[in-house]
Amino acid sequence: MARWKIYALLTGTSPVDKSVVTYLQEPGTPFRVANVIFVLEGAGEHIVVDTSFESVEAIRRINKRELERTPAQEPAHQLAQIGVDPLKVRKVVHTHLHYDHVGNNRLFPNARFYVQREELRFAFAPNPLLAPIYHSPLLGHTPGYLGSSLEILDGDMPIAAGVTVIHVPGHTPGSQAVLVETEAGVYCIAGDTIPLFENIEKGIPHGVHDSVSDWYRSLNRIKALADYVIPSHDMRLFEQGPIVVWPGAYAYRIER
Ligand SMILES: [Zn+2]
Repeated sequence: MARWKIYALLTGTSPVDKSVVTYLQEPGTPFRVANVIFVLEGAGEHIVVDTSFESVEAIRRINKRELERTPAQEPAHQLAQIGVDPLKVRKVVHTHLHYDHVGNNRLFPNARFYVQREELRFAFAPNPLLAPIYHSPLLGHTPGYLGSSLEILDGDMPIAAGVTVIHVPGHTPGSQAVLVETEAGVYCIAGDTIPLFENIEKGIPHGVHDSVSDWYRSLNRIKALADYVIPSHDMRLFEQGPIVVWPGAYAYRIER
């Protein structure tokens, strides 16, 4: 079994209504989520999972939202903290194509970007309400993945020894999660299928979703395949600091 390490890098934070991340729960409650870049380290390479939002200024201009990113949370700075040379990164996985997951692809000019075909289709022609979160070209925007060297997937696919992406629709039609073999078992980097620990602890879908029924099927699939789950946006990940590493740090353990 391949032995990978997983890093989570805090690259900013976003204010949201609580019900945006936990469907129909606590509407009207201000909440803050983390924006994270994950890095897998093993077998002599680094694989990046998602690239966070582009910049506070870009999101203010395009989405009229006020996100936060301190100088220490700049993606290039955070990658340097764990010894990642972005120019040497050959593989980047996009869990999905929402703007807060594809904004810094330009940092990785030599990488191929793994994305589900279903996601690419939907990102280009989304339901109208969801067009802004995709920076859809239909609205005249240039999404962060455009111009990246895309590796288009149709379902589950191993991308390295011990690293497999699985198609988990629900949050979006082409969401994918990443299964990573470590010395402590199989970890799932869940993307926005599981934004918070609370979503898997209580079985609550993301408030932004394409299909709740698909989401429950995907949740069961993750539970069948992983030993631990790491959520995409939970500030609880960073209680000990802005860089987290697994095995070691807390992750949700699947009971069997
Ligand atoms: Zn999302």
